[in-house]
Amino acid sequence: MRIGIDLGGTKIEGIALDGSREVARIRVDTPRDDYATTLEAIASVIADLERQAGARGTVGIGIPGTLSPPTGLVKNANSVWLLGRPLQVDLETCLGREVRIANDANCFAVSEAADGAAAGADVVFGVIVGTGTGAGITVRGRLLTGPNGIAGEWGHNPLPWATGDELPGPSCYCGKHGCVETFLSGPGMTLDHERRSDRRDAAPAIVASAVVGNAAAEETLARYEHRMARALASVINVLDPDVIVMGGGMSNIDRLYHNVPRLWCEYVFDTSIPNYPTPNGRRVEVGPFGIGSVGRVRTKFVRAAHGDASGVRGAAWLWPDP
Ligand SMILES: [Zn+2]
Repeated sequence: MRIGIDLGGTKIEGIALDGSREVARIRVDTPRDDYATTLEAIASVIADLERQAGARGTVGIGIPGTLSPPTGLVKNANSVWLLGRPLQVDLETCLGREVRIANDANCFAVSEAADGAAAGADVVFGVIVGTGTGAGITVRGRLLTGPNGIAGEWGHNPLPWATGDELPGPSCYCGKHGCVETFLSGPGMTLDHERRSDRRDAAPAIVASAVVGNAAAEETLARYEHRMARALASVINVLDPDVIVMGGGMSNIDRLYHNVPRLWCEYVFDTSIPNYPTPNGRRVEVGPFGIGSVGRVRTKFVRAAHGDASGVRGAAWLWPDP
């Protein structure tokens, strides 16, 4: 049996897989700002899964950050109470067995490229947009890592083609301003909406307001889509993925899959695209194309097939041969 744990900023999700069949699943709140209690919560989820499944499993864990290759300490986590902690050593002590740990977005990309929305695609950019923004890259099903353990970390590049009112941009926990994450995360949308409307709403409430015709909410969503299009266009220009697959809370916004690919045509480097700005300034609007396939940009933009379970399934698959 394989156990996967997705350690998120707000939830700890655990799954037990027998082959690829789910036999148990548990979800608890993440004890924020408390490392020791976070370790206990993970151990307790694993104990409960094994009790329900009636078997002992291998343990793979997706974390909101990465283990620094030389030291094994957690780095780049927006759950800042994990930073600098020897999470793998502590969990192995706590659980009495070896554990495998990978960035949560990398787990997500592995899961979706294996048997999800990007199954069979050559190059996949798997992005999670929720409390934060992470991403992982797979090439023919293989995870692309790197000497710094940060392949795919688009969220802490600056928002590309920023306009005057987007500069210097909101401050980010990483120490910079105007990171993609500060605009595209759920809290980023909340802040952006609050600056314009004086209403402090969570992203789902903003989306619901836009659906019933609230003008401020509609404008917030339109700004959001344009920013996501620019952020992903810069990824397409570097990686040229076959599929961009999105998970996380913000992936539930249906209109993104239609609107963002229409908007990214303006920024993907291809002067044969109908609305690519030409030197004489002539632009032709791109009409509505099918979801996931727009104009001459062939990259598909799709929602994760396993929904919120992609990260936790990918964590379980960190042990391909238990
Ligand atoms: Zn940042």
